[in-house]
Amino acid sequence: MSVPPTLRRIVRASVEQLNAYHPVEAPEELAARLGMPIDAILKLDSNENPYGCSFRVQEALATFDRFHHYPDAQARSTRERIAAYAGTSVERLILGNGADELIDLVFLATLDAGDEVIIPVPTFGVYRARAELFGGEAVEVSRLPDFDLDMDALLAAVTERTKLIVITSPNNPTGNLVTNQQIVRLLQTGALVLLDEAYFEMSGKTSLPLVGEFDNLAILRTFSKWAGLAGLRMGYGIFPHYLAAQVWKVKPPFNVSQAGLIAAEASLDDSEYLHGTLNRIRAERSRLLRKLKRIEYLTPYPSHGNFFLCRVTRGDAHDIHLRLADRGIMVRAYGDPLLRDCLRITVGKPEDTDRLIGALQTIAAHV
Ligand SMILES: *Cc1c(COP(=O)(O)O)cnc(C)c1O
Repeated sequence: MSVPPTLRRIVRASVEQLNAYHPVEAPEELAARLGMPIDAILKLDSNENPYGCSFRVQEALATFDRFHHYPDAQARSTRERIAAYAGTSVERLILGNGADELIDLVFLATLDAGDEVIIPVPTFGVYRARAELFGGEAVEVSRLPDFDLDMDALLAAVTERTKLIVITSPNNPTGNLVTNQQIVRLLQTGALVLLDEAYFEMSGKTSLPLVGEFDNLAILRTFSKWAGLAGLRMGYGIFPHYLAAQVWKVKPPFNVSQAGLIAAEASLDDSEYLHGTLNRIRAERSRLLRKLKRIEYLTPYPSHGNFFLCRVTRGDAHDIHLRLADRGIMVRAYGDPLLRDCLRITVGKPEDTDRLIGALQTIAAHV
């Protein structure tokens, strides 16, 4: 790319040096490449809900007639509904354009140049990339071989520059949980523990009760996975009161769309439907695990999320990824050296499992 010298002076050097985000291949692109209709693509690469959102969401969006107005900047009614659902107070809640935006807002409110963010890896890649964008230093601490937190190493990594410790439970992509005891030990360091519970509804396990006891625990949640609203971008954070006040100051006033607010409320109106899909996903999780264990070149790790990390024990993960894509099946492969020989597979519907397993058996001869 040619670099216009005037613009080069204008763009921040730290931004120019960032690696561009490489998004996964879009299903539309893959469908076009294979000459398949988009509905024939089996998307098991992003931990989305295969049953889709509640019909009440579509109904509520179709009949709403005030989209020409700005949404309520306080999002009062939606925050009240979410507070009741989550079991927290409205004052602690801040909504985000996905949980991703809340990661940014917390970093923006906390990080000065050189401040350290401790991240147990492997985990969700966004934390590191965004911490660095905001001037922070990502301090990656390896997990134990079963992906449990290495508590001694984490505690040893804390310095006077440590601002945050980012924990994910269930962890993406490894599927394991942290215990409250582990969270408490990390809280006792005095760092802000940012606990990402994006998959809370898949596990049913939360450290939310600790928010009332410690003023340095923040929890992130999202409607993307359990409620099937990934495309509408609705996440929320549950913060200590003091931190909530600071995050409000850095948050764009209309960061969440009216459509997202409507969709979140309509979802909570239809919790019976959503709990039905969660039950189906959990049942299929057990079935998929049994079937993956019988694929002789894969070793799946147990998971409390709606996905399985599988180590590829024969052949090459990226080759298997391509062979599945050629059959219209999208799974997640990794460039990260820690996950280079792994694939992450989202739990789909029973027929999705059957199609995936059939394809994995077919390609077994080639790996
Ligand atoms: C999917 C995911 C998110 C992002 O959620 P959005 O609300 O869609 O931005 C955050 N954290 C983890 C661990 C995730 O897997």
